[in-house]
Amino acid sequence: MGKRKEQDELSSEELDDEVEVKAKPKKPRAPRAKKVAEPSVDELGYNIEPPSLIWKDFGTKPNAKIAAFDLDGTLVEVKSGAQFPKHAGDWRWFNKKVPAKLAEFAEEGYKIVLFTNQGSIKSALGGAAAKKVKGRIDDIAKKLKEEHKLDVPWQVFIAPQMTPGDAMHKPAPGMWQFMLEHCNGGLQPDMKQCFFVGDADGTAGTHSDSDLGFAKAVGITFKAPAEVFGPMEGKASLSAEQRKAAMEAAHSGSGPNAELVLQFEQLSKDTFEAIKRGEGDAFRASAYKKVAEALATFPSKISTDSLKEVGKLKGVGKGSLDKIKKYLECGHIQGEEEAAAAAAEQQQQKETFSKATEAAMQFM
Ligand SMILES: [Mg+2]
Repeated sequence: MGKRKEQDELSSEELDDEVEVKAKPKKPRAPRAKKVAEPSVDELGYNIEPPSLIWKDFGTKPNAKIAAFDLDGTLVEVKSGAQFPKHAGDWRWFNKKVPAKLAEFAEEGYKIVLFTNQGSIKSALGGAAAKKVKGRIDDIAKKLKEEHKLDVPWQVFIAPQMTPGDAMHKPAPGMWQFMLEHCNGGLQPDMKQCFFVGDADGTAGTHSDSDLGFAKAVGITFKAPAEVFGPMEGKASLSAEQRKAAMEAAHSGSGPNAELVLQFEQLSKDTFEAIKRGEGDAFRASAYKKVAEALATFPSKISTDSLKEVGKLKGVGKGSLDKIKKYLECGHIQGEEEAAAAAAEQQQQKETFSKATEAAMQFM
């Protein structure tokens, strides 16, 4: 069903692509339109530069000062939390300062340029996946204009999934070089004033260091999104792989918060056990597990100073923060009194249960 739908959504070019890889035609075929390596402009106004670049200009002028940005995890987040955006509207700002901050850079005389790797696009630059990416970028530009009333000129460069020998995919500096050669009126940049903002800097929780590598390869200053826009708004969602890797690290004792993580995991297990006895709360049991996973991905040792940041993790609410505070005070997420009270309650329940059983037996 899902597979069928995916196929329906693929453009004819993408399907042709698959056919070319898998089937071996007996007779040599005439070259196809999409294989002609000529630059073209598509119906959405995007420039297609075969084999591996798509770009569009939203009203910029040549400029020596370039404020460059990555897209996902930097200017916007995937709203649905999926690995790849589901549709053109599947995004939210990194935080609410982003639109005004972009306008501020433009006012300070910078040209805003986006350099983004979009791995959902395979080889078909005019295919369905590419169309989704373009539609999303157009939607962001439209919101800037219509909702925020900001007329921010910008350029966007999109590199599809990396192929062998490809010079466009970050960390390679190909997109920057292309921009200078073809999209900046021949003007050379003042490298000291240029910078690149991106989330992929290789630290814990990030998927790669391609943004940091890109800035290095280009030779301009690298900044993290929070340095420019302040902390991210909303709760960051993590992929299943990230959570799994972080939990494995905690189990081997290597994460900075391994002990705390294991206590939440144990509390989750205890609560699941309690459910079997008809006592526990299923919602809490899985909530504690989510807290354990979220804490496992926190990059530094948690202290009272970092509680505000910890509270921004997805799944970590006020109740969990109270438990973490308790841990910081006495080394356990349940204080001695709380643990004793919980044990006493359990004991009492057991006694009530056995008395009731005893009473019931008398009538049998
Ligand atoms: Mg990113």
